[in-house]
Amino acid sequence: MLKRLVELEADVRYQEAPAGGEAEIGYTEGAVPILISAPHGAKHTRFYPEHGERQPKDEDEFTAGLARLVAERSGAHVLWLRRKSNEDGNHDAGCRYKQALKQRLHRHAIRYVLDFHGVRASRKFGIALGTANDTSCMPETQALILEALAQCGFIETGEGLRRVAVNDARFSASNPNTVTGYVAGLGLEAAQFEFNAHLRIPRRREDASATEPFESADPQSIERLVHALTRLVQTLAAREP
Ligand SMILES: [Zn+2]
Repeated sequence: MLKRLVELEADVRYQEAPAGGEAEIGYTEGAVPILISAPHGAKHTRFYPEHGERQPKDEDEFTAGLARLVAERSGAHVLWLRRKSNEDGNHDAGCRYKQALKQRLHRHAIRYVLDFHGVRASRKFGIALGTANDTSCMPETQALILEALAQCGFIETGEGLRRVAVNDARFSASNPNTVTGYVAGLGLEAAQFEFNAHLRIPRRREDASATEPFESADPQSIERLVHALTRLVQTLAAREP
C-alpha cells in the first residue's frame, strides 16, 4: 500500500510551476458523491495582511498521494494541487482551485467533501478534525467520521499518533475561505483533516521544501489511516440522501 502511495504522489512536483499546458490541478472522477480534496499538495503562496504580500508556503507532503489512494480504494472523486501555485486554494476567496472544485461539485452532485492537509511531526495529535466548530457538517456526519477513525484506533482520548483532536482552535477550519468553509457555504457537508507527518510521509522526497531527512516512525499507522478513511467514504456513500 505504501508503494502505491509513493506512486500516486509522484504525479506532484512540489517546486515546479505548470509547464507548457500541464494541469496545475489534478482530478480523477469517482463513482460515489464524495470528493476528497488536497489543495496544498504542492508548494503555494498565501497572502498575509500583516505583511501586505504573498509569501511561499511549503507543500503538505503526501496529502495529494493520500487523497488519491483513498479515492482509488473507495470510489471517491479526488481533486489535488499537482504543481507549484501562486495561489492558496484553502485561503483565497476567488481562485482556480475553488473554481475547479465548484465545477466538480455541481457536475457530480457531490454531497460530502473531505479536505486533507498536513501538520508537522511535533504536533501532539495524529489527526485534527475541523468542522468549523460543528457547523460544516451535520452532527450525525461528525459522529460517523469519529466512528470510522475509532474503528482503526484513532480516538479523542488516544496518545500520540492515535489521538484525534476535534476543532482544535488552530485547525478548526472556521475561516469561510477554507475549502471546508467554502463547501459548507454552498450548502454541502464538509470536514477538514490535518494529518501528522508520521501518518502520511513514508519517506521525504528529495524535492521537498523541508530539507532534513524524514521517515514515518510508524508506517503501519499510515496504512491504518488509509483503511479508516476508505471506510469513512464507504459509510458516507451508503447513507440515504
Ligand atoms: Zn494545508
